[in-house]
Amino acid sequence: VKNTTIPNLDDSMNNTEEDEVDVVDLASSSLLNKLIRQSLVESSHRVEVLQKDPSSPLYSVKTFEELRLKEELLKGIYAMGFNRPSKIQEMALPMMLAHPPQNLIAQSQSGTGKTAAFVLAMLSRVDTSEPFPQLNVLDEVAHLSESVSSVKCLCLAPTYELALQTGRVVEQMGKFCVDVQVMYAIRGNPIPRSVDITQQIIIGTPGTVLDWYFKRKLIDLSKIRVFVLDEADVMIATQGFSDQSIRIQRALSSECQMLLFSATFEDSVWQFAGRIIPDPNVIKLRKEELTLNNIRQYYVLCESRKDKYQALCNIYGGITIGQAIIFCQTRRNAKWLTVEMMQDGHQVSLLSGELTVDQRASIIQRFRDGKEKVLITTNVCARGIDVKQVTIVVNFDLPVNQLEEPEYETYLHRIGRTGRFGKKGLAFNMIEVDKLPLLMKIQDHFNSSIKQLNPEDMDEIE
Ligand code: ADP
Repeated sequence: VKNTTIPNLDDSMNNTEEDEVDVVDLASSSLLNKLIRQSLVESSHRVEVLQKDPSSPLYSVKTFEELRLKEELLKGIYAMGFNRPSKIQEMALPMMLAHPPQNLIAQSQSGTGKTAAFVLAMLSRVDTSEPFPQLNVLDEVAHLSESVSSVKCLCLAPTYELALQTGRVVEQMGKFCVDVQVMYAIRGNPIPRSVDITQQIIIGTPGTVLDWYFKRKLIDLSKIRVFVLDEADVMIATQGFSDQSIRIQRALSSECQMLLFSATFEDSVWQFAGRIIPDPNVIKLRKEELTLNNIRQYYVLCESRKDKYQALCNIYGGITIGQAIIFCQTRRNAKWLTVEMMQDGHQVSLLSGELTVDQRASIIQRFRDGKEKVLITTNVCARGIDVKQVTIVVNFDLPVNQLEEPEYETYLHRIGRTGRFGKKGLAFNMIEVDKLPLLMKIQDHFNSSIKQLNPEDMDEIE
């Protein structure tokens, strides 16, 4: 009989966590991206625009002044250090600020300025102590009859933390818009039954917003004038959120401007976007593709984990290394390797799934600042985090799925680079003999050569 009440007795139970393969959770990697973001992500592609009415003129702006924003808002934008609109902002802002307001679906990778764009749009709408400069007479009358505080914006975000991040941008950008306030409709933010929500911008998760609308009657969705659905791709990956978002959207008035943003655009996101945003303009900015072309890839055949470690040390001692990232498949392997390397006097840090997103962000920040030369990690860091000074990536374990098949995408994300940052990189795969067929599959899949390396002979590399 197994004793399940006393932990530690049953080793296998105790180890399940450790053997866990860290899966990339969309919401936390999106948050992580935001926390470590230092600047705008550029793309060499052109912005693609699909207008709802192709015959109407297409405006783009090269400066924020052209948008004729309120002075406080312009001041806030400049105080954030923005000099000119980002690539998608050039096209998106005139559409979002047009009169009458237009609906928009926008897709571009994270870091390209989507949040800043819709925050700007919300702030320009709520802060109506003066009429909009571009209003025609009829619009003007309609708008003036709305008091400043009655213009409400609703922004849906997939998680509490992401909602708070967006709120921070509102606070920063709206720093000089004194009357504008944000309310968070997120779990754990209870407000008394009788209090009227006077804040003009509501940011929340779909479940709580519905609750506040249907059950608690705190928000009047028919009064919302700008509706933003942020991170649509993350949203639809969360159980129940698409349906809840659609229920919220159905309660909005036909006068409400509807905006949807997504970092990726699989078919599922398109379908969802099409259901939730009527008559949209569409803006897309393709992302820089990852390539293995400027990466030299090697593999070392090993007998065991110890053997892999030895090979790693040889490589490490044999070539001049800037910074390296080492990927392990399980938390247990990552931990083991960290301890081994530390005992051998290396400065390493460990990034794995049991850490909070804040902790992960601070580890990545330290690594970026060069405080450690080696970062050991599980799959939590495979995507999105580009540390340009990294010259070496090591797959201590190959990325495989539960069926023991190679995960090609993960391999690409671990070692690939965008062609534009053309710096050469090196990738090493530590391969146990029985894993060799997997590596060959990867090689075939990408049609790129992975050379065998004798770890005692580093001359082959440099
Ligand atoms: P996304 O929502 O697409 O992930 P963000 O709006 O968060 O992108 O912008 C990414 C980063 O770039 C943020 O640090 C933001 O402050 C900054 N940023 C956004 N727009 C501009 C701009 N026009 N000029 C300079 N920096 C900008």
